[in-house]
Amino acid sequence: MNEMIPVLRLSGITKGYNHGKPNEVTVLRGIDLELARGEVVALVAPSGAGKSTLLHIAGLLDTPDAGRVEIAGADMTDQRDRVRTRVRRADVGFIYQFHHLLPEFTALENIVLPQLANGVARKEAEARAQELLAQVGVAPRSAHRPAALSGGEQQRVAFCRALANGPRLLLADEPTGNLDPETSETVFSALMALVRGTGLSALIATHNLELAARMDRQIRLDQGRLGAL
Ligand code: ADP
Repeated sequence: MNEMIPVLRLSGITKGYNHGKPNEVTVLRGIDLELARGEVVALVAPSGAGKSTLLHIAGLLDTPDAGRVEIAGADMTDQRDRVRTRVRRADVGFIYQFHHLLPEFTALENIVLPQLANGVARKEAEARAQELLAQVGVAPRSAHRPAALSGGEQQRVAFCRALANGPRLLLADEPTGNLDPETSETVFSALMALVRGTGLSALIATHNLELAARMDRQIRLDQGRLGAL
């Protein structure tokens, strides 16, 4: 892959809801953003500013009203759903505030399943899952179901799941927002180590300015536009 091509490029993204109705709302008013390879960017925004909307558009879970979304140089804007789903599965990892692990599966299986969906053989998928769990210090818990894990452990397993298919781009929406400050610190450090170790690009929404300061660049979303923090 050409290192000069941004992993994510958003150009002129606009998005609103309830068009033509009395409750019409414009959320994004012309978003331009580039993430270089290996770059980790903090997205800081007041609640309701549209960061989830922006992350969903960047991750091909939603479509803008206007503007262009490129992943590693490929224009995804007008691609069919099948193509967008394939690119999303292979190239994009998501992390949410809540872990969203499947409760009836073990930690290991939760990391294996997305790999199987991406065509990886089970043995290989299990080895990769073990390796990822070891990197975040949860290997001894690999056979536990989510309910038997602490909040910090659940979230670290969710990080492993997001990285299971070796995405180019990680999108995270308040990844430590549900944790107490001390756990948040440990879990965030584990996330940064994972991200730095793989060299992927990440856009990480957070309210925590201390965590934001540890990323390469900080941007603010306000009134539908991006600016410096
Ligand atoms: P954030 O993640 O920054 O809290 P969101 O992206 O979730 O913000 O939402 C931004 C704004 O768009 C909010 O005012 C929200 O109410 C509105 N919104 C989000 N999704 C929808 C939807 N599906 N229909 C109508 N309004 C929505």
